[in-house]
Amino acid sequence: MGMLTRDVLEDPVALTRALVDIESVSGDEAEIADQVQHALVGTGLKVERFGHTIVARTELGRPERVVLAGHLDTVPLNDNWPSRTEGGLMHGCGTSDMKSGTAIALHLAVTEQAPRHDVTYVFYECEEVDSARNGLKILADKRPELLTDASFALLLEPTHGLVEAGCQGTLRVLARTTGRRAHSARSWLGDNAIHKAAPILRSLQVYEPRTVVIDGCEFREGLNAVRIGGGVAGNVIPDECVVEVNFRFAPDRSEEQAAAHVREVLAGFELEIVDSAPGALPGLDAPAAREFLAAIGQPPRAKLGWTDVARFATLGVPALNYGPGDPNLAHKQDEHVELDKIVEGADVVRRWLTAGA
Ligand SMILES: [Zn+2]
Repeated sequence: MGMLTRDVLEDPVALTRALVDIESVSGDEAEIADQVQHALVGTGLKVERFGHTIVARTELGRPERVVLAGHLDTVPLNDNWPSRTEGGLMHGCGTSDMKSGTAIALHLAVTEQAPRHDVTYVFYECEEVDSARNGLKILADKRPELLTDASFALLLEPTHGLVEAGCQGTLRVLARTTGRRAHSARSWLGDNAIHKAAPILRSLQVYEPRTVVIDGCEFREGLNAVRIGGGVAGNVIPDECVVEVNFRFAPDRSEEQAAAHVREVLAGFELEIVDSAPGALPGLDAPAAREFLAAIGQPPRAKLGWTDVARFATLGVPALNYGPGDPNLAHKQDEHVELDKIVEGADVVRRWLTAGA
């Protein structure tokens, strides 16, 4: 028996508290997954488990299917667990990112019997660590059909009750300069690779990033040096310097176009792409996305950052972020969530799922 009793499941605030109080730092989701799975027994949903990722689907024969998804893990505790509620705020690790959002999905999975679309609820592990362990990625690789038969996905990551659409892509590139070692007392015999990096830094310093508006969402790009390394010893002219550059690009560029753009800005330098992930267009024309925006009644803004929305986009499923937590509090020691936002979020999502039914 778990902590997720019927009373708790019917109250999204109590459910948030209960989920927060099941410790589930990435890699340690066995118990929370057990409890979530147990809570779904007897709901009539078709439940499948992959590792510590739980998929629960309605089979109502509706013409459309949507996904509601939330991760079960948190970043490591930081003297901020278990939860504590004070003056309308619930404090604790995972309150904002994203057990309040996951609680809304679980609350609806258990209590909403007649959604107007079929719903696939996904509760997944290891979102806060490298992408190879991400439960949604593993599901997308192993059983994509469980996700791709949806026409829209809602990810309940923290957005503070706003709709965040699309996401930026990201590219990491190493720019390398080479020279020739020599004793620094006879430096004219060498060729200083660190000095040769100056034009790379200059190009980045004067670079003017674009701001692009797509479907009313403003995406701000950024091209930045994020690390630099070079040098052998205090008396040696360095023969190599590596500048690591990160390009956060708007989703109107593909990964290939983003790479081509960086090659153009840093033309003449030896470049090596070490990491790349595509962005996601806002995808606001999907009918279910329009309905959701209508239920919210306010315009979306661009997601600045990379989220699993892009994973859905890669599968051809348009997705939005919407959740009660404040994204600025995610991963912080004083992480908290407003109780009102949880109640409002549960109402909004239910209204969207049931309107016209
Ligand atoms: Zn998160």
